[in-house]
Amino acid sequence: RIKHGNRNGFSFFSEDLQAFSDKRSKIEKYLRTAIQNEEFEVYYQPLVDETGDILGAEALIRWRSKELGWVSPAEFIPVAEECGLILSIGDWVAEEACRTLKILEKDIYKLTPKYLSINISPRQFVQPQFTENLLTTIDKYALDHKKLRIEITENVAIDNIDLTIAKMHQLNGEGIDFMLDDFGSGYSSLSYLQKLPLQTIKIDRSFIANINNCKDNQVITSSIVGICEHFSMECIVEGVENDKELAFLKEKNITAFQGYHFYKPMPANKFLSLFI
Ligand code: C2E
Ligand code: MG
Ligand code: MG
Ligand code: MG
Repeated sequence: RIKHGNRNGFSFFSEDLQAFSDKRSKIEKYLRTAIQNEEFEVYYQPLVDETGDILGAEALIRWRSKELGWVSPAEFIPVAEECGLILSIGDWVAEEACRTLKILEKDIYKLTPKYLSINISPRQFVQPQFTENLLTTIDKYALDHKKLRIEITENVAIDNIDLTIAKMHQLNGEGIDFMLDDFGSGYSSLSYLQKLPLQTIKIDRSFIANINNCKDNQVITSSIVGICEHFSMECIVEGVENDKELAFLKEKNITAFQGYHFYKPMPANKFLSLFI
């Protein structure tokens, strides 16, 4: 833990590092009361097929702090993971997604999405109670288990791959599908693709940006598509931002897309209105 105070005296830390740690401790402080103060909201970003029809949507948390204003999940989720608050935040997101799925069962909603996916941090996934808690939430809303998917990253398997596989099999057995998020961006190991019972791979958006001009990214993306075909996994590309990227990806036989070109993440009400 970084020590504060004595800012006029001798310091081991540069101003930048000091500012970073100040922001971080503020985030942690205000994160503690964010749920009870109702500062969180879940946005939904639709995923589409090659004709533009909505397949499903990803649940993405938003935080508007009374003290800090809007804080990006890229900034506060790592803090929440470190201090353990991710457990209660994760439960809250799962419950919200289930509530939204339940609303979509009302008759006014036609051609509803096949699923909503929630992002699960390694720290959540390794909890002994994870499976039971999640199933309890889904069953509380009497939902088809296929309607809620789990997005994990490869980090989840780093500490204990056997336990990860066992847990995934258990959830698969309950009808819950897994999507491997941000594939290719982390310490990717192709052996994970072979070992983990995954239904979907999401290709990281870093490979899609500038794909039309970058031969490397074209080859990487095509190779991942080939791997998905071989393992009979669904392949989704993240971060599709324009027509040119889309045209290239369609040519590579990709049939599921997520990105600003189609939809940006949106509040629940706006998302629900797409299905009326
Ligand atoms: P992610 O799971 O990879 O989510 C996709 C991110 O890419 C989202 O950022 C989304 O808004 C953004 N995105 C989608 N399409 C485009 C595009 O075309 N261009 C660009 N530039 N970006 C696009 P967001 O919402 O800021 O979330 C960032 C990350 O925070 C997520 O990455 C995920 O790792 C984490 N996160 C968000 N919500 C949750 C949550 O409820 N629980 C956990 N554990 N993590 C979450
Ligand atoms: Mg995700
Ligand atoms: Mg992602
Ligand atoms: Mg990401």
